[in-house]
Amino acid sequence: MIVGTVKEIKNHEYRVGLTPESVFELTAHGHRVLVESGAGEGIDARDALYADAGGEIVPTARDVFATAEMIVKVKEPQAEERAMLRPGQILYTYLHLAPDPDQTRDLIASGAVCIAYETVTDGNGGLPLLKPMSQVAGRMAIQAGATALEKANGGRGVLLGGVPGVLPAKVCVIGGGVVGFNAAQMAAGLGADVTILDRSPEVLERLGIYFEARAKTRFSNRANLAECVADADLVIGAVLIPGAAAPQLVTAEMLKTMKKGAVLVDVAIDQGGCFETSHPTTHADPTYVVDGIVHYCVANMPGAVARTSTYALNNVTLPHALRIADLGWKEALRLDPHLLNGLNVWNGQITYRAVAEALGLAY
Ligand code: NAD
Repeated sequence: MIVGTVKEIKNHEYRVGLTPESVFELTAHGHRVLVESGAGEGIDARDALYADAGGEIVPTARDVFATAEMIVKVKEPQAEERAMLRPGQILYTYLHLAPDPDQTRDLIASGAVCIAYETVTDGNGGLPLLKPMSQVAGRMAIQAGATALEKANGGRGVLLGGVPGVLPAKVCVIGGGVVGFNAAQMAAGLGADVTILDRSPEVLERLGIYFEARAKTRFSNRANLAECVADADLVIGAVLIPGAAAPQLVTAEMLKTMKKGAVLVDVAIDQGGCFETSHPTTHADPTYVVDGIVHYCVANMPGAVARTSTYALNNVTLPHALRIADLGWKEALRLDPHLLNGLNVWNGQITYRAVAEALGLAY
């Protein structure tokens, strides 16, 4: 198959669909890979590395779209990219169609076979192509929180791990899923005093077995949450209710009970945020202060560590890309119902029920 990858053109997107190592795997399987010149610049993967891996460097995205049978990307195609899609061409990338009627209309009109990373499933009911980004965001949340806790950044001037003779900071992680687990792992690794709240007994049990004495677990109810937040130097918001806006668990009123200069990191901001006082911020200006409490609410945290994020993403997307290239998309999807769940648009029709329902379109 002829596979292609392009330089991402969405604002501040530095990741790339295929690393040079992924290109090497594809070419080793006998496929041709077209790479737009400069596609890997954002992760310091230069054209020469792609060429060494067997990729064919072409000058523009148009050259890739015109020839490749499958386009592997990171972000949803932008309008000018959608205009270059051809009937029957495979588009394999994050799409997030439900809130995006313009993109959905263009993909339907293109006749392309559109497979969305975010709806591919696994045998445990998880979303394996979303998971690495939650891992990155969870780990970054502690880095971001530690920086915000520094006095010069508006924080209370507390070192997460303390030092011998001085107590460590208290970290309250709300939600013990992928983000919360990774945040707790980082915070506990630094020596912080970590409490994780979740409302799922199974999740709490798993966390208890993993962390043993290195982190405390607590059932998430109003009283426990209020106490944990009031006591914390750093609060990480990591809840998710699938398919729904995040619940606003920390109210504006609760900020008044917190220590001045404490920090809230709202990782769930991409679902509306789990603190009442949250609003989305950017990497260029990541924090703001409400009632003396520093808020960090960046909606695309993994973008800041584009290289790590690209490699983490490729680790999970490449096996499917290889199977699609080796077998053709029809056979690959027929043999793997989890990959089939990724099919969102085909032959001018929506093939994913939740997207059709969200947009009031035929399914
Ligand atoms: P997940 O499903 O793995 O975990 C969510 C957890 O929240 C579950 O364990 C669930 O039991 C728990 N939960 C639900 N309601 C709760 C409540 N009232 N109190 C305590 N816990 C509760 O989800 P995840 O992958 O960890 O993602 C968490 C959030 O982070 C999502 O909104 C996701 O979109 C977001 N996210 C943001 C970024 C970013 O850059 N900002 C990046 C990745 C993920």
